[in-house]
Amino acid sequence: MSEPLAPQYNPSSIESELYRWWTERGLFAPEAHAPGSGEPYVIQMPPPNVTAVLHMGHGLNNTVQDVLIRFERMRGRRALWVPGTDHAGIATQNVVERLLAEKQGLTRFDLGRDAFVERVWAHVRETGAVILEQLKAIGSSADWSRTYFTLDEGLSRAVREAFVRLYEEGLVYRGHYIINWCPRCLTALSNEEVDKEEVDGKIWHLRYPLADGSGHLTVATTRPETMLGDTAVAVHPDDERYRHLVGREVLLPVVGRKIPVVADEAVDPEFGSGAVKVTPAHDPLDFEIGQRHRLPTIDVMTPEARISLAAPDRFQGMDRYEARRQVLAELEGAGLVERVEEHRHAVGHCYRCATVIEPRLSDQWFVRMEPLARPALAAYRDGTLRFVPERRGEDYTSWLEGIRDWCISRQLWWGHRIPVWYCDANGCGLTSVSRTDLTVCPGCGGPVRQDDDVLDTWFSSWLVPFSSLGWPKQTKDLATYYPGHTLVSSPDILFFWVARMIMSGLHFMGKVPYTRIYLHGVVRDTQHRKMSKSLGNGIDPLEVVERYGADALRYSLISGMSVGTDVILDPQDLESTFAPARNFANKLWNAGRFILSNLEGSTRPLAGQHASVVRREELTLADRWIIARCDATVVEATEAYECFRLNEAAGAVYRFIWSDLADWYIEQVKPRLYGDQPGGDVARAVVAQTFDVALRLLHPVMPFITEALWRRFPGRPETASISVAPWPRPDRRAQDPAALRDFGLVQELIGAIRGIRAEYSVQPGQVVRAVVSGSDGATSATLEQERATIIRLAKLSALSFAQSHERVGGHAVLSDRTTVFVPLGDAIDIGRECGRLSTEVSRLVRLVESQEKKLGNEQFVSRAPSDVVDRERQKLTTWKEQCDVLVKKRELLGCS
Ligand SMILES: [Zn+2]
Ligand SMILES: [Zn+2]
Repeated sequence: MSEPLAPQYNPSSIESELYRWWTERGLFAPEAHAPGSGEPYVIQMPPPNVTAVLHMGHGLNNTVQDVLIRFERMRGRRALWVPGTDHAGIATQNVVERLLAEKQGLTRFDLGRDAFVERVWAHVRETGAVILEQLKAIGSSADWSRTYFTLDEGLSRAVREAFVRLYEEGLVYRGHYIINWCPRCLTALSNEEVDKEEVDGKIWHLRYPLADGSGHLTVATTRPETMLGDTAVAVHPDDERYRHLVGREVLLPVVGRKIPVVADEAVDPEFGSGAVKVTPAHDPLDFEIGQRHRLPTIDVMTPEARISLAAPDRFQGMDRYEARRQVLAELEGAGLVERVEEHRHAVGHCYRCATVIEPRLSDQWFVRMEPLARPALAAYRDGTLRFVPERRGEDYTSWLEGIRDWCISRQLWWGHRIPVWYCDANGCGLTSVSRTDLTVCPGCGGPVRQDDDVLDTWFSSWLVPFSSLGWPKQTKDLATYYPGHTLVSSPDILFFWVARMIMSGLHFMGKVPYTRIYLHGVVRDTQHRKMSKSLGNGIDPLEVVERYGADALRYSLISGMSVGTDVILDPQDLESTFAPARNFANKLWNAGRFILSNLEGSTRPLAGQHASVVRREELTLADRWIIARCDATVVEATEAYECFRLNEAAGAVYRFIWSDLADWYIEQVKPRLYGDQPGGDVARAVVAQTFDVALRLLHPVMPFITEALWRRFPGRPETASISVAPWPRPDRRAQDPAALRDFGLVQELIGAIRGIRAEYSVQPGQVVRAVVSGSDGATSATLEQERATIIRLAKLSALSFAQSHERVGGHAVLSDRTTVFVPLGDAIDIGRECGRLSTEVSRLVRLVESQEKKLGNEQFVSRAPSDVVDRERQKLTTWKEQCDVLVKKRELLGCS
C-alpha cells in the first residue's frame, strides 16, 4: 500500500479491491488465526433462497451478522460465519412454473417430473446464487469456502438420515388428517406456512329440517359450500335445548342426504345457535368429531378447490366460490337462510402465492413435535438459550407450548424426495423407509415405487447448524464448530427456522446449536410499511452501495436500529437517508489523510519497556484528554458490541472520531504536528495510537474505509489487515478524570465564545476579545495554561481574566459558573446589528399580534380541531419567546 491516499473519498475505488484482497488472503476462514489460538465463534447465516435477489432485509440481517463476526474475529476468536443457499421448494418451483407458462405455455405436468426437475436445476445453475455475490458487495465476511446448497449431496444425505432416524424413533409418521392445502401450488403446507389475514366475511345461519318433518335445527357457518360434504350436525351434550334431538336425523338441504345429530364436548354452545354442521373432510375440528362418532368423510373438493364427483351432479366442476353462490341461492329459494351476519375473521393464505388455503383431508407425513419441543423449552427455561430482546422468549415459549405436529410432505417436485418405498406386490404392501435407494421390496423382492412427495424445505434448513459442517459424518469441522454461538434473524422466521433448529440440534447433536438469538427489527419505509416488491417501496441495497458506498449503507442500517426496533428508511429520499453516513466517511477520510501525512518523522512508543517510551509528564493536557477519551470509547463500544447494542457502539465511535479526534484533538495539536516543533514526536505518538484504536473500533461497522486507512500507517507490514488486528483493550492507566474535566472546561469556553460569535453574526475572519471572570484558582490556572489553544480555536485577539467595564457584548456562563464576556463594540457594526434586530423584532411583534387576534376569535377556537388550536398556541408562545430574546440582545448591544 505505497500509493498515496486519494484526496477524495471514493468508496467504489477501494471496496471491491479490498474485498478481493481479503478473500485472496483467506482472512474470513477461521484458519486465518493460528489453530488453537482462540475459542471458535460460529454464526449460521439464514440461507437466502437460491433464486433470491438482495433486498434491504437481507442487507440489514447480514450487516448485523458481519458486525458481530468481525468483532469476535478481532477479539481473537476463530470466527466462522457459515454461508449457504436454500433450494426453497415452493418458491423456486413457482418461479420456474411461471417461466414455463410464459415462454412455452406449458405446465410442469406437460414436461413430466424428471424433465421439470432438470429444468429447475438449469434455472438454478443459470441464475444461481447471484445473491452470494451481492452479499460480498456489502462486505459480508462469511467463509465462502464453506458455502453449501441445501440440495448438495452432503446435505441431502443429512436430510435422509434425519428422516429415517426420526421414523425409526417413532417421531415421523404417515397420517390421514386435515392439512392446509394450497389449491394454486397444489401442495400441503405446515401451519407456519399459512398467513392468517383478517378479511370481511359473513356468517350464514342455515336451517336444516328434521328428517321427520317436525321442525328444524339452525346451524351457522362461514363456508356454506362445505355443506355439500356434511355428515352430521353436532350439539353439546349438556345443551338442554337440543338434548331431545340427539340421535335423530336431519335432512341435509340441497343434497337430500339424511345425517344424524350427535352430541360432542367440542361444540361451543355459545357459538351461533349452539348446533354446528360437521364436515369431517374439510375442517380439522369436524374431522376430530367425525373420528369420535365414526362419521363418514365426504371429500367434496378436488385439489384445485373445485367441487368433486362426491357432490350432486349440478355442482361438479364448479369453483369453490361459484359453488358457494349456487348453494346459497338454492337455500335462499327454499327459505332455509335464517339470517346473515357480517363477520370479520382470520382466513389462511398461502405464504408463497397468497391463495386462500383450503383445509383438506389427505395422507401426509408428519413429525411428532411434542417430544422435540420439550427439551427445546427446557433449554430456554434453564437459561441455556437467551433471546435479544428478551421478550421474544415469550413468543418462543408459547409457540412450543401449543405446538402441533409438523406436516412435512409437499406435493412438489423440486426438493428432497421422501425416502419411502411402497411394495406393489400382491399380498405384501410393505412400506420401507430407507437410507439408501431401493429397487426391490426388502420383504418379498417385488417391485417398489418411491413416495411421490418431497419434504418441506424447512426440513433441510432446520438441520444446517450441523449438516453444513458435514453431519452425519463425524467431521473435524463438526467437532470444532458445533455448537455455534449466535443466531441473527428477523422475527418472521422464529418458528419456521430458529426454533426448529434448536429442536433438531438438541435431538441429533444433544446440544443447542447456539445460545444467543438476536432477533432484529424489520426494514420499513417512513409510513412504517414493510419494504416489499409488491408495494414498490423498497430500496435496492446495491444502488446504495454504488452511490454511497457499502460502508455508508452499513453505517446507516446499524445506526438506525436499536435492540428489537425496526429500521426506518426513506425510499423517496436516498440522499437524506444515506448522505449522513457518507459524510461521516468523508470526514474520517479527510482526518485520516491529515493524520497519515503527518506521521512521518521521529516518534516514540507511548507504552512498553522501551527506553525511549514517552513519559507521562511529557503529555500535554490535550494528549492526556484524548487518551482518556479514547479509553472511555473502547470501554463503551466494546460493551455495546457485546450486548448487541450495535447502534450505541457505532454512535460512541462516531462521536470519538468526529468530535473528539477530528474537531478537537487534531485542531489542538496541529502546531505541534507541523514541522519539527518541540513535543512533535509525542503528539505523533498520541495521534497515531488513538487514531489506530478508533479505526479498529469502527472496523466491524465500516470495514472498507477503516482497512484502507489502517493499512497506510507508516511501517505497517504489507500483509497486515485490520480485520484480524487485535481488538483494543481498555487501559486503566489511561483513565484521567482531571484531564477530562480540565480539557472539558477549555472546550466549554471555546464553545461559548463561538456561540456568541455566531449569535451576533461576527464574521469568521474577525478576531474578538474574551474576558473571563468568576472562575476559581484551579480553573483560571487551567485556562491560562491552555491560553494559546483558546486564542487559536476561538479566534481571539486577547484573553484576559478580569472584570470588564465594557457594556456592549455577549455573555455566557460555563458549567462551573465561570462567566465569559465577549466585548463586541469593536468587532461588529453595532448600528447595523441594531437595525437588523429592530427589523426582526417588529416582524415578530406583528406575528404575535395577528396570532393573538386569531386565537381571540371564538369561532376559530371552538370550531378548529383541538390539535390545530394547540399548534397555533404553540406558535404564539415560540414567537413571544424569540421576541423577548431579541429585545434583550438589543439592550445588551445598547441599541437606541
Ligand atoms: Zn400457494
Ligand atoms: Zn413386498
